[in-house]
Amino acid sequence: MNTITDALVARLCDRVSASTSDTLSTVEVFTGGTLAKVPRSSPQDVAEAVEAARVAQRAWANVAVADRIAIFERFHALVLEHSEQVLDLLQAETGKSRRDAFLEAASPLVTVGYYARKAPKLLASQRREGMMPLLVKTTELRAPKGVVGIITPWNYPFALAFTDLIPALIAGNAVVLKPDTQTALSTLFGVDLLYQAGLPQGLLRVVLGDGPVVGTAIVDTADYVGFTGSTRTGREIAARAGQRLVGCSLELGGKNPLLILADASLAKAATGAVQTCFSNSGQLCMSPERLFVHTAVYDAFVARFIEEVKRMNLTAAYDFSADMGSLTSRRQLETVSAHVEDAREKGATVLAGGRARPDIGPFFYEPTVLTDVTPEMLCYDSETFGPVVSIYRVADDVEAIARANATMYGLNASIFSKSIPHAESVAAQLNAGTVNINDGHVVGFGSADAPMGGMKDSGLGRRNGAEGLLKYTEAQNVSVQKVPLTTPPRWLPYGLFAKNMRALLRLFRKAGIR
Ligand code: NAD
Repeated sequence: MNTITDALVARLCDRVSASTSDTLSTVEVFTGGTLAKVPRSSPQDVAEAVEAARVAQRAWANVAVADRIAIFERFHALVLEHSEQVLDLLQAETGKSRRDAFLEAASPLVTVGYYARKAPKLLASQRREGMMPLLVKTTELRAPKGVVGIITPWNYPFALAFTDLIPALIAGNAVVLKPDTQTALSTLFGVDLLYQAGLPQGLLRVVLGDGPVVGTAIVDTADYVGFTGSTRTGREIAARAGQRLVGCSLELGGKNPLLILADASLAKAATGAVQTCFSNSGQLCMSPERLFVHTAVYDAFVARFIEEVKRMNLTAAYDFSADMGSLTSRRQLETVSAHVEDAREKGATVLAGGRARPDIGPFFYEPTVLTDVTPEMLCYDSETFGPVVSIYRVADDVEAIARANATMYGLNASIFSKSIPHAESVAAQLNAGTVNINDGHVVGFGSADAPMGGMKDSGLGRRNGAEGLLKYTEAQNVSVQKVPLTTPPRWLPYGLFAKNMRALLRLFRKAGIR
């Protein structure tokens, strides 16, 4: 905590585009006391930030991709150099355990490493097949969108902002970023490091304030919107962006299933389930909240799982001792408590946890495991976004797959099985954008070469992989006609020209050329 000084907070707040002296308070989650007062931006500040970013973007678009990447290589080194400060800020603002903060801080490093290697080729102009071999030359160009608006939530303020803004900037765009106010300092610290690494001034602007005011102002002015947050807000953003015909990508909520197949290693499954279900106190879009366990291993798995859950250490400490930290806000604590109370009242059985722990910190809640959960309970199909999981017994894979898919969401799924071909065949039948086998969520999220995102109400578009970069570009097709192809010379009657063309098309098809 002692690395968060008033001088640091003042320096970070200077990075916010805000013209008035209005401020918003943030909370130090472990104590509930005030952490900082951060500037509040107005819609006018957003408009000015977008315009200024637009000017900076024109020069940036002319900087060679290799020179853009060099800045991110320096940023990578700076994040590692200042990692203790990143962890302190993340813990203070989110209440997560230091272990969770450590994993989060590593995420932008993976993104930099991946796009530093892949972006030059992905962004270079590519020769494409022309309409006619030899007679038409076609090239695909990639131009930046312009100003990208990025709006992020409070649960992973460092990882989520940077996973999106790194490819947006490398692709030649400017960015106007709106992090959640409660976790603004963690994001601003990374922004400050990026400027220290040499990012041209003004290219990345940060605004703060209420989502419906400041977020809406971004959606109304940016050339593309990258949004991470709830499905409810995602729908509003998509509708608004649709009115202006600008694109958006939406990384939204989940109600993720975890399947324990009959041939799973129960030791690995129990440890893996604890790790993934209670990461960031379950405030992780990819965390499972529904466990489907094959009846043959149900009793043995549940016994092991509950034993491990009950051993978890909850501590409000700025060190690596805690297995699980706090919820981030009173609102989250109220939602989690309401879901558990509702389930208890309607007949669910609480196998572990089930109560708040104000003796540790104001927003702490125990890791909680429920059974006998039925469709009329809130936690059956609504996202709890907390440390609460329900376990269901299933007769076979067919039932597990059907129940896993019986949700409006399709973000992440996890499978435990000793047979990889068996697990892969189940994975192919799940409606989820990411499926992790013998892991909960980390290997899917960390494998940056493959796109990641949600099916159904969990989102639109993907981050990571080629898609995670190219979504921030406009594709342009430049085609050159080397000899006239579509109009016959004056001396050739059109009927004869058409006949020759048909013969040529037949020949091409036969030769497999076109
Ligand atoms: P939220 O939708 O309330 O807020 C997210 C961001 O959007 C915040 O910065 C907020 O200020 C802003 N916002 C709110 N209303 C807005 C509006 N009308 N226009 C523009 N911006 C607006 O979500 P939250 O509660 O902060 O975050 C939790 C949700 O995010 C959960 O549902 C979780 O599953 C989801 N999430 C998804 C992913 C993913 O990658 N799929 C990652 C993290 C969190």
